[in-house]
Amino acid sequence: MTSPLIQIDRAEKTYRIGEIRVPAVRGVSLTIDNGEFIAITGASGSGKSTFMHLLGCLAQLDAGTYRFEGKSIESYSRAQLAALRNRRIGFVFQSFNLLARTTILENVALPLAYQSVRRDERRKRAAAMLERVGLGDRMKHHSNQLSGGQQQRVAIARALVTRPPIVLADEPTGNLDSKTSAEIMRLLSEMNRDEGVTIVLVTHEQDIAAFANRHVVFRDGVVASDELQRNEILVPV
Ligand code: ADP
Ligand code: MG
Repeated sequence: MTSPLIQIDRAEKTYRIGEIRVPAVRGVSLTIDNGEFIAITGASGSGKSTFMHLLGCLAQLDAGTYRFEGKSIESYSRAQLAALRNRRIGFVFQSFNLLARTTILENVALPLAYQSVRRDERRKRAAAMLERVGLGDRMKHHSNQLSGGQQQRVAIARALVTRPPIVLADEPTGNLDSKTSAEIMRLLSEMNRDEGVTIVLVTHEQDIAAFANRHVVFRDGVVASDELQRNEILVPV
């Protein structure tokens, strides 16, 4: 049984730069069920990142409605939105966004500090997540001492350490070579399959999108197609 995690109805977002208006998302409706693995593709400028910002409550809709776990977020205060982002949504970016001169253990533990989790418990949970992504032997390394693929593993561990039901990943393999990209995709697929984490991933590569079990295509700020697909079989490395 699946239940809706996110229900977005007729979402619109327009950027305003002085007199110029740039409509980026022009009426997108999407329901995301718990446990789904969705890939979003589409040409550059088609509104994918803007839509991910709306999904992640990093920006507000100009029009339309957004319900997260059944609750309408339109009336949420800034503090309530921040709490939702911190506790219920994990973010993974193309550029990793790790603190450079900080150990990867501290990087991964950081989201728990915002939840007032005690220091020893933070470290314990961060260490367990780093083991899970295959970096148990690197905990004391600084993030800038790791390869791109390793840094993205750290970012995935940081996104998942709070046990959010959903992870949003915008071009997570955009800075990685194809072999490393496949490893990162296998890791995300495992998290989806084994831990039930819902994943929404933006990519411009068809072979990356093939790992998902639903494929949404954006065109000029609207959904051009939305189809279920059989996902890539997890081949052990
Ligand atoms: P994608 O991620 O699919 O490449 P974006 O959501 O980044 O698309 O962009 C959609 C449209 O909005 C594009 O025309 C882009 O130029 C414009 N846009 C994106 N971000 C901004 C911004 N911060 N200010 C103004 N226009 C923006
Ligand atoms: Mg983008």
